[in-house]
Amino acid sequence: MPTPTLRFLSTLLAQGKASSVELCQDYLDRIRRLNPALNAFITVDPDRTLVEAVAADALRASGRGDVLTGVPIAHKDLFCTEGWLTTCGSRMLAGFVSPYDAHVIRQCKTMGMPSLGKTNMDEFAMGSSNETSHFGPVKNPWDHARVPGGSSGGSAACVAADMAPAATGSDTGGSIRQPAALCGITGLKPTYGMVSRYGMIAFASSLDQGGPMARTAEDCGLLLNVMAGFDERDSTSLQREKEDYTRDLDKPLAGLKIGLPREFFGEGLTGDIAKAVEEAITQYRRLGAETVEVGLPNSRLSVAAYYVLAPAEASSNLSRFDGVRYGYRTPDYTDLLDMYEKTRAEGFGEEVKRRILIGTYVLSHGYYDAYYIQAQKLRRLIASDFRAAFRDCDVILGPTTPGTAFRLGERIQDPVQMYLTDIYTIAVNLAGLPGMSLPCGFDGQGLPIGMQLIGDYFGEARILNVAHQYQRVTDWHQRRPEGL
Ligand code: GLN
Repeated sequence: MPTPTLRFLSTLLAQGKASSVELCQDYLDRIRRLNPALNAFITVDPDRTLVEAVAADALRASGRGDVLTGVPIAHKDLFCTEGWLTTCGSRMLAGFVSPYDAHVIRQCKTMGMPSLGKTNMDEFAMGSSNETSHFGPVKNPWDHARVPGGSSGGSAACVAADMAPAATGSDTGGSIRQPAALCGITGLKPTYGMVSRYGMIAFASSLDQGGPMARTAEDCGLLLNVMAGFDERDSTSLQREKEDYTRDLDKPLAGLKIGLPREFFGEGLTGDIAKAVEEAITQYRRLGAETVEVGLPNSRLSVAAYYVLAPAEASSNLSRFDGVRYGYRTPDYTDLLDMYEKTRAEGFGEEVKRRILIGTYVLSHGYYDAYYIQAQKLRRLIASDFRAAFRDCDVILGPTTPGTAFRLGERIQDPVQMYLTDIYTIAVNLAGLPGMSLPCGFDGQGLPIGMQLIGDYFGEARILNVAHQYQRVTDWHQRRPEGL
């Protein structure tokens, strides 16, 4: 069977060769078979999925369907989904059933895309390996002893294992691109403000951005068409004309200028990844693109700036989990303060507590100027570097991650090692730019390698074009793990 892309499934439905109910049933069967080992889903609810599938078939039959009507999708468990458990990977929300839909969920429902379930993730999206999830780690479908990346590890793993044709993810410092790279799929983090954050449980509001995770660039474009768009309920949502992100997919690349940041190709890049990315560059030259060297001198400070800014925002966002309004509440307490303390001590995991502590520290009187303000200044410098680089090129290309999927347990005791896995992705969030990861090879152990394409603001259609042209002449994105 050909790769089950969204495009392929959409054609099956349009030609009447399959119904949404049949597609959903096939995926639910696969989830039942594979999820116990992979742990990619936190919640699966076949009855709900099938009710949505029946409605989607009716919508298509009525002639009011659109391209993705009837095509199922999985959702990262930080998107509030009415009537579904929405846990954010935390004990704090382990019993929380959302009373409303996030904007992204609503958009998918309006399109008639049945939900296959809610995917596992690092707790409150803090992590790069899925090991901080209250519901246990996700396994990488390519090697069950390894991590799928994070924080959207469940979304990446379920697509890689064909338990869903696509999934939603969110990316604050790399959480769409890094797991996409480690699981051998394609993922896009849009320009900040393109996809509404309404109903997406907040981690670091000035960085968080929802986006698509799928097999191909074309599928990411199709899904972004559904997810993106102005929403007045998110004050940072961009008021722009509706666009078709797939409009430029077929444009030839002749004359395209690809910027190669010298900071991304120095030491720290392991042999197999350097080689795969070099080969991709050669491929692009064959497609008619030129390369130019660019500089992102401040990007080496991006991880440091991020680990001041993201925890600062997280410490404020997570203050709402107090045991009063919703979520977990400790069973035994003496008074209000005791209830707060025990609820938060028991409800949050180690990594979340570490971030809250760092965040409150850097925001406190006396340290604010030394850390928070300094980090904000760095953020501006990092954004200016990109601005200068885009004067000389149309897109920027580099590796997505410094290494391939690491072993479960290998880094969880060493937060700094874990933080460094996002060294190539974080600057993009700090600048608010669009970035994507797509498969470009395998290492000596058969683990997928991802390359990153970074666009200028609102350059989604451009990077999708650049990615699609590569996927037309390569088949890395079609490879699937054996034996699943
Ligand atoms: N790994 C990074 C972190 O732990 C990024 C996470 C994300 O993008 N949500 O904060």
